Amino acid sequence: MKLNLNIQPLSTWITSGKEPLVIAGPCSAETEDQLVATAHLLAKTGKITALRAGIWKPRTRPGEFEGIGSIGLEWLKRAKEETGLPTAVEVATAKHVEEALAAGVDILWVGARSTANPFTVQEIADALKGTDVPVMVKNPVNPDLSLWIGALERINNAGITKLAAIHRGFSSYGNTTFRNDPMWDLAISLKTQVPELPIINDPSHITGNRDLIGYIAQKAFDLDMQGVMIESHIDPSVAWTDAKQQVTPAALSDLIDNLTLRKAEVKSSAVNDKLAELRGKIDKIDDLIIQKVAERMTIAEQIGKYKKDNNITILQVNRWEEILKKTTDYGKALKLDAEFTEKLLELVHTESIRRQGIILNEGQDKVEEKLTHA
Ligand code: PEP
Ligand code: MN
Repeated sequence: MKLNLNIQPLSTWITSGKEPLVIAGPCSAETEDQLVATAHLLAKTGKITALRAGIWKPRTRPGEFEGIGSIGLEWLKRAKEETGLPTAVEVATAKHVEEALAAGVDILWVGARSTANPFTVQEIADALKGTDVPVMVKNPVNPDLSLWIGALERINNAGITKLAAIHRGFSSYGNTTFRNDPMWDLAISLKTQVPELPIINDPSHITGNRDLIGYIAQKAFDLDMQGVMIESHIDPSVAWTDAKQQVTPAALSDLIDNLTLRKAEVKSSAVNDKLAELRGKIDKIDDLIIQKVAERMTIAEQIGKYKKDNNITILQVNRWEEILKKTTDYGKALKLDAEFTEKLLELVHTESIRRQGIILNEGQDKVEEKLTHA
């Protein structure tokens, strides 16, 4: 499904022309010196397109540093005057929007906690009416694509067409490798529904760990995302917020140099011919996979009828475990990841069971149909 958002191409409102697009700056503006000195070092790399800094910080727990507040806008103004870097801040209320715009902030972003709340997003959207400031919308903290899209729609409905999404990962329970699980599928799904929407990756908040930022940033560019937002602090070891994930401007510069930028499309006809040949093969295999799955479903239905006639339950755990073991072993021998094979089989098996359920409970099929299409 394609969504109808009215979006201006990124190149019309971010005109630095620098590749890759990097928005960088401290998690929080702490002092005037910290912000301005960081901005100078970032500008000196020649690789930064815009300066970010949080001045109103949405902290999950009370009692932590909640941002320096409006005074930070003056510091941002000075940083911009001295370095020429456009500035970006997070806004979470109508008052933030008004103050940021009055102070000449160039880009606003909606934070992950705000995106999760349609009341907040609507308040921000209403405050944006009549302006044409660029706005970036972070994904919500929870993995809910509709909330992300809903926030983008609300901002777009307010007349903001210089719009981008920021992919900063999703919170999950328990110990995980990343601070916020990237769940790339959700960002890819957003891209599929709104292909013209630029997506900026935020590897700092995904990883929560400066050592992994380059890895995630590379992955984002390999998935054709349009840029990155990376937290950078003049001295991360003393940062008041997100110390573990901030990098010095010098480290950021190295990180950018180590990225490999690939193109979504190339002009060379030899490359395109080879790609077309390989894609042709893939398409044929996809057709075969679907044919075979359809055949398997027909057989599953025959089994369903047979079970019905002989009064046998649909699910026989032993049989399922046997299939799972046999097939994942076979997959392993063919160099398929066991977890992948298991997921694939489970999907097919669940559909077989659903179909057999309909056969066993004839008359109930209308209920099932309604449920699956609800
Ligand atoms: C931030 O960018 O500093 C921030 C608070 O991020 P998020 O909204 O993604 O948690
Ligand atoms: Mn942060």
